[in-house]
Amino acid sequence: AAKREGRGNFQFFSEAMNAATHEHLLLENRMWTALEREGFELHLQAQVALDTGRVIGAEALLRWHDPELGAIEPSRFIPIAEECGLILPLGDWVLSRSMQLLADWQRDGLAGMRLAVNLSARQFGGDALLSRLDQLLAQHRIDPSRMELEITETAAMRDPESTRHLLRQLRARGFKLAIDDFGTGYSSLAYLKLFSIDRIKIDRGFVKDIETNPNDAVIVAATIGLAHSLGLSVIAEGVETHAQWGFLRDKRGDEGQGFLFARPMPAREFREFLRTQAQPVPGS
Ligand code: C2E
Ligand code: MG
Ligand code: MG
Ligand code: MG
Repeated sequence: AAKREGRGNFQFFSEAMNAATHEHLLLENRMWTALEREGFELHLQAQVALDTGRVIGAEALLRWHDPELGAIEPSRFIPIAEECGLILPLGDWVLSRSMQLLADWQRDGLAGMRLAVNLSARQFGGDALLSRLDQLLAQHRIDPSRMELEITETAAMRDPESTRHLLRQLRARGFKLAIDDFGTGYSSLAYLKLFSIDRIKIDRGFVKDIETNPNDAVIVAATIGLAHSLGLSVIAEGVETHAQWGFLRDKRGDEGQGFLFARPMPAREFREFLRTQAQPVPGS
């Protein structure tokens, strides 16, 4: 019986695997097409100063709408894009589109706004990223300090020595640097000292239950304190309630991002959103 069960399990797993491989191949195929036909879009989600609620910038988030499959979440397509290498041309498109957005803002009197852009670990390798960024800077003539590059903690720790090297080079060019999803990876605060970064983004997972889970509350408060004592600023992800905002503000967190302030939205809508905020954007 055990044998038969074993075989049954194997069959079950292999069918599940086939389905996964099939989906993977399908999405991979459709993504290459989307890349050729401008099927990707960047949405922008506001980032606000916690003390005033004023919008200080935005994070660029990839969106993909396939004509047949509909909208597909980044959490589904980005891991596949990373695995098959498509993240390289896709990440390049994100960088180029982001520089274009910054150039538009600069031209339209929004030069003080910061744009945060997600980088994948696959984009770190070699000098390709640096030379591409140099090329884009020359082309768009934007102020690099208006662009913040986000790398996840996990990606940064994959090869800490080469990450350290890359971050130094990026910083020398004037880019801002943030560690994304902070607290979810296997790492310690000690390495923060090693990396030349400007900001850490506290993961949504810690913010979610900040009011009800004393451990999360302590972790968030301690993280803010430690970051500040290292000279880093802190942004919290996934702020959804006024109580969460209040907590983070009390603990002297610097910035927040979340559905409470704004959902991610198309670039044009974001401009409208800024107008309705009716606040002066900090100087250029
Ligand atoms: P992330 O960089 O940590 O981005 C924040 C995610 O949290 C976004 O999900 C955003 O829509 C979501 N979010 C923001 N505020 C709230 C909130 O108040 N409540 C909840 N429940 N969620 C909130 P999204 O857009 O689905 O992106 C997921 C992940 O995909 C991103 O996580 C990032 O790791 C990756 N990603 C997105 N765009 C890019 C990109 O251009 N390049 C790369 N390499 N990765 C990207
Ligand atoms: Mg991010
Ligand atoms: Mg994040
Ligand atoms: Mg996150």
